[in-house]
Amino acid sequence: MSELRQDPVSGDWIILATERAKRPHDLLEKKKKRRPSPLSKCPFENLKKSGNWPPINVYPSERSWRVAIIPNKYPALRHNSTCGFAFKTGPYWRFGGIGHHDLAITRDHYRNWAHLGEKEVYELFSIMQKRYSELKNDKCLVYTSTFFNWGESAGASLYHPHAQMITLPIIPPGINHSLGGSASYFRKHRRCVHCEIIKFEEKSKKRIIAKNSSALAVAPFFSRRPFQIKIFPRKHRPYFEKTASSEVKSVASVLRTVLLKIEKNLHDPDLNFFIHTSPLKNQPNYKHYHWHIEILPKISLPAGFELGTGVDINVVDPDAAAALLRKY
Ligand SMILES: [Zn+2]
Ligand SMILES: [Zn+2]
Repeated sequence: MSELRQDPVSGDWIILATERAKRPHDLLEKKKKRRPSPLSKCPFENLKKSGNWPPINVYPSERSWRVAIIPNKYPALRHNSTCGFAFKTGPYWRFGGIGHHDLAITRDHYRNWAHLGEKEVYELFSIMQKRYSELKNDKCLVYTSTFFNWGESAGASLYHPHAQMITLPIIPPGINHSLGGSASYFRKHRRCVHCEIIKFEEKSKKRIIAKNSSALAVAPFFSRRPFQIKIFPRKHRPYFEKTASSEVKSVASVLRTVLLKIEKNLHDPDLNFFIHTSPLKNQPNYKHYHWHIEILPKISLPAGFELGTGVDINVVDPDAAAALLRKY
């Protein structure tokens, strides 16, 4: 029998309809092995030559950088000397498209984040944290969204692994939804909804995919899509950039483990993952929030019902998804 389940953060409902797929395996097509693009066509092999120099930040040094933040040459938003302002055209609001669009890259063309050393993933997180702290000082911008697209169907136009960081003058609606849900749960129960989820999942054990001393990866009870995964720092931390390095190391390590499990158990599907964290501005207002990472493998695409209603139909029970992902 199918079941409706509610996300306690967003209040969104999903339909879990496992009878629509025989077994989780049935969804996983054996695809041709992913082919890396040639190095000669990659703009990140020689940053100077491709006009991606100077970088915003590199680590450990400009000559022998392992991780770097560079401005996107084709940005969705561009910063200039003044802040944008809102104005009205008929019934429509418009706002100057100012912001930043950065890329966080690793040196190696061939190894994606699943295959980086733990130290490298941590170094990446660490320079991203630094970038968040810098962006906080920009008086025009309020939110940085960090996301990673892997594979063409997930929106990646380049093979070379890279995360993108878009900083906006508004809080995006999806984030507002998550922040608002977390705030209203806190007002009602005086507790963090994500801490409650972590506590429940730790006790039930069924949907845990990987964990270590400071981080936990679960297939959420209310998964919107097959094999959706959330990774949390175990301690209540509202701000990604203010999280202690030992905890960030743990989250980075769990992310890497989970990405490897996805690659092995789900035959390297295209995927997206992103960080949900508190806005850059008015941070005391977001003490209730608990930052986390969300991974969505591109295994099923939203169709008419999902697009028309905002209700997702998931055909894989998250208990079964976690069991399959734990395998290797
Ligand atoms: Zn490359
Ligand atoms: Zn919490």
